Amino acid sequence: MLLHSCCAPCTIYPFDRLQSEGFAVTGFFYNPNIHPFCEFEKRLQAVCDFYRTAGHELLIDAAYDVSAFIEAVYGSGARRCETCWRMRLRTVAQMGREIGADAVTTTLLFSIYQDNDTLAGIGREESRDAGVEFYYEDFRAGWREGQRRARELSIYRQKYCGCIFSEEERYKKKIAALMETKRRA
Ligand code: SF4
Repeated sequence: MLLHSCCAPCTIYPFDRLQSEGFAVTGFFYNPNIHPFCEFEKRLQAVCDFYRTAGHELLIDAAYDVSAFIEAVYGSGARRCETCWRMRLRTVAQMGREIGADAVTTTLLFSIYQDNDTLAGIGREESRDAGVEFYYEDFRAGWREGQRRARELSIYRQKYCGCIFSEEERYKKKIAALMETKRRA
């Protein structure tokens, strides 16, 4: 099973589930949506540490091109995340086919903040086009457990989804307050 890992905290539960179901798991890091570079490095390092500790192979595509990512998602408007998911899951499916994986899946299915149904649909489409099976499981069932274990293991936990747009959303209230202050100054 090729498991696309978006970050270390979201990997814990899906990895354990797949292991317990008898899959031989190989990780794959491909997340050109993570900005800025210092954040990208932190998340990549945390994922590397996780797989090293678990004693499992991790494949890495360290593509980092902010301009290309923004160009790809900007025109999508409200469907920005769908474009982002498709971009990643296409590469995951292609990698799965390349290494001869029986199936591919993604830790994105663990997040309670992502649209699980849409994600699964995109995963199936891209996998079908690449000629590899997409494994679906609603990993959100383990959200609390995964978060708890990430805290216990002192794994780096990010504060926003990944792209610069989500980083702006994280500071929305702070930005609004700052702008109000400036207006009055
Ligand atoms: S919010 Fe997350 S899923 Fe949506 S475009 Fe940004 S990084 Fe991708």
